[in-house]
Amino acid sequence: MTDTYEVLALRYASRTTSRAQVFLNYHLYDEPDAPIQMDYYVWVVRNHRRTVVVDTGYGESGGRNRGRGHLVHPVRLLSRAGVDAADVGLLPITHAHYDHIGNLTSFPAARIRIARSERDFWRGPTADRFMFNHACEAAELAELEKADAEGRVEVFEGRTEIAPGIEMIEVGGHTHGQSILTVPTGEGLVVLASDAAHYYEEIERDRPFSIVDDLDRMYRGFDLLRSLIENQQAIVLPGHDPDVMHRHRPLDGELAGHGIVIGDMGEGATS
Ligand SMILES: [Zn+2]
Repeated sequence: MTDTYEVLALRYASRTTSRAQVFLNYHLYDEPDAPIQMDYYVWVVRNHRRTVVVDTGYGESGGRNRGRGHLVHPVRLLSRAGVDAADVGLLPITHAHYDHIGNLTSFPAARIRIARSERDFWRGPTADRFMFNHACEAAELAELEKADAEGRVEVFEGRTEIAPGIEMIEVGGHTHGQSILTVPTGEGLVVLASDAAHYYEEIERDRPFSIVDDLDRMYRGFDLLRSLIENQQAIVLPGHDPDVMHRHRPLDGELAGHGIVIGDMGEGATS
């Protein structure tokens, strides 16, 4: 009997962009451009034994530098879900873009799990080139380094079990060490794709996203996500798709309009 968990996707921001900005080389599809909504999430994986937060959303300055506000600040949204950021012990980081590692200072007790290749890339010789660093905040990368210096960062290669039943798998593609997580729930295996697939359309129509580290690996990431769906009936949650909010059970109360739950464990999930 393996551990099962409930998974919450909490939507902390939303904006409208365009399909030409979102999909790589969109002109090649010979389709008219059109508006597309991009939502921003953090994820909670928990049962009565443990709570894991996946990524930390963007912070005030990361948002402000791009003219993007919050619907609700991610740390406050977590608190509405009963998660005090200051108490979070295990924090897998799928990649180091500004909308996934902002707010690290609010998680002073967290052990951070990240792919070695992701951590090392942002120390490397091309990390400060515009096509890479436009999606990062130097202060936040410095915060990650600070946590590392404090011994709070644990890196892995390939794949690792970060908690009983919860696997973190490095896929690359979008960033050098972009990772996904697989989580057993009462409704089946949930895959937190994060930005290995921003949108369902990337997986369903094999359409790469515009921000790319390695296109070959991005396509292989799509292959992996599709194989998890086909072979394990996995429920994949893309990192930025507004449709996540419609395909799954909405949260209510203070979280109404701000998230969904899969494998709801009710009170059993909060210790
Ligand atoms: Zn993202």
